[in-house]
Amino acid sequence: MKESKNFIENIIDEDLASGLDQSLLKFRFPPEPNGFLHIGHVKAICVNFSLAKKYKAPVVLRFDDTNPVKEEQQYIDAIKKDISWLGFKWDEERFASDYFEQLYNWALELIKNGKAYVDSQSSTLMAEQKGTPTSPGENSIYRDRPIEENIRLFNEMRQGVYAEGKHVLRAKISMNANNMLLRDPVIYRVIKKEHPRTGSNWVVYPLYDWAHGESDYIEQISHSLCTLEFKPHRELYNWFLKQIADPNKLKPKQREFARLNLSYTVTSKRKLKNLIDQGHVTGWDDPRMPTVSGLRRRGYTPESLQSFVNTAGVAKRDNVIDVSLLEFCVRDHLNQVAPRVMAVLDPIKLNIINYPEGKDEILMGENNPEDESAGIREIPFSRDLYIEREDFREEANRKFFRLTLGKEVRLKNAYFITATSCEKDENGEITVIHCTYDPLTKSGMDTEESKRKVKGTLHWVSVKHAVKAEVRAYDRLFLDEAPDSHKDKDYMEFVNPNSLEVITAFVEPSLQTATIGERFQFQRLGYFCVDKDTSENKLVFNRTVPLRDSWTKMGE
Ligand code: ATP
Ligand code: MG
Repeated sequence: MKESKNFIENIIDEDLASGLDQSLLKFRFPPEPNGFLHIGHVKAICVNFSLAKKYKAPVVLRFDDTNPVKEEQQYIDAIKKDISWLGFKWDEERFASDYFEQLYNWALELIKNGKAYVDSQSSTLMAEQKGTPTSPGENSIYRDRPIEENIRLFNEMRQGVYAEGKHVLRAKISMNANNMLLRDPVIYRVIKKEHPRTGSNWVVYPLYDWAHGESDYIEQISHSLCTLEFKPHRELYNWFLKQIADPNKLKPKQREFARLNLSYTVTSKRKLKNLIDQGHVTGWDDPRMPTVSGLRRRGYTPESLQSFVNTAGVAKRDNVIDVSLLEFCVRDHLNQVAPRVMAVLDPIKLNIINYPEGKDEILMGENNPEDESAGIREIPFSRDLYIEREDFREEANRKFFRLTLGKEVRLKNAYFITATSCEKDENGEITVIHCTYDPLTKSGMDTEESKRKVKGTLHWVSVKHAVKAEVRAYDRLFLDEAPDSHKDKDYMEFVNPNSLEVITAFVEPSLQTATIGERFQFQRLGYFCVDKDTSENKLVFNRTVPLRDSWTKMGE
């Protein structure tokens, strides 16, 4: 079978075929440490690290830390933790801030070559002079400042002589280039704020376009892969490289692939931060967040995130991937690896009238039918159990495969039972169901009785042995499929006010010793994992995903 390749692999193959030495291949992942990584970044990480693996090339983790206003050490730490958790190892760790001196010196060279000037106009005036895509811009009155004066001013900017906004350094390209980004872009501005790594050493900071390509060049990145919105920047990227690159050295190549957008959420650090700042979620790792740390806390596995971005594929056009694909991927993986347990989220009491009072019995449950090596566990059984309220109806039609009066069902890992009566409170709410059990139908018994056809199988927890737990069930964070795609409305207007439901559940006692991060299948309900809010006397679970796409389909 012919191996299918994505378009980036085709580009690399062509470069290799036309003489690029394979040993010169090198990739990078360049996050700005201004927030936590999200599912979109997982795509970029997988693209770069997979290429590196495939072509046996190194990957640089480069922090694009050129704007001290938004960047923090906590983000640097979180980004490293998340990439490692995803299962990737970078070969080099770099910081754009390590190149500040070099970038500054190259900027001085630009000035000396008449390719950059200090502009002292206001930013509003500069914006007005930019022109439009269909009309040319206007030259700044400072565009022809003498080189010596530019050098002096730029040095003084660095020394902190000027307040923020007083002067900027601009590349001198053309004020009527078709590509607006080439209309004398600003490459340095004064920012008087502590930088997480360089402290107060610098007060001039390079802008993205100047810092990024030159950092790629310093690290000798062969293919600088970014998302489509940077496509118009490619011309500028190449213009800058042409000014500084040694013709005998490798010149990095920028290529673009589609952003990964996920339905019913936003993937932008800035927008995610707003959700935190406005109190819609509790932090970057809130299990409703599409961040790596949120998904991890929610119970997602690295394998499921990788298979999700691989299935979504590397595209050339932006698209929105349905969140149900992400959910499919985690179900698929957890089905293979998550131990099965029983938990009742909406309990109603079930009393077995012919089971001896005071008797306890230890039954055996298979931990994972998909994995024999997962072994078996003990589940205590007694006369009083909890079952799900929705698993019982006094009467129901033939499509209801659960418990009704007079009908027999199986209790998972236990016995067949037949409902005989139920008690109600003054509001007509059922408070307890009475049933009988058949001791000859015990799970694992090879009797005639256990061959009887029963309609359904219910999960349960013994009342006496049950452990109370808090279960947090999550719904979509936004009510709109593409909350940030509306021209006339802010994405914040679509925040789902009911994205969290807190439930008091009863779980089987084997879960008493579960540790934070452990994942389980609550049989017939879904996948759940132990939240970090768990303490010695309080068990907290997050619902990763229900077993099926929708609650309404359950058991019907
Ligand atoms: P944000 O808007 O969330 O801050 P960004 O693009 O500014 O995103 P960076 O930290 O600068 O974030 O991105 C690091 C790398 O991840 C870049 O190469 C960027 O193109 C890529 N990336 C960011 N978001 C996505 C996405 N949704 N899909 C694919 N790649 C992405
Ligand atoms: Mg950014």
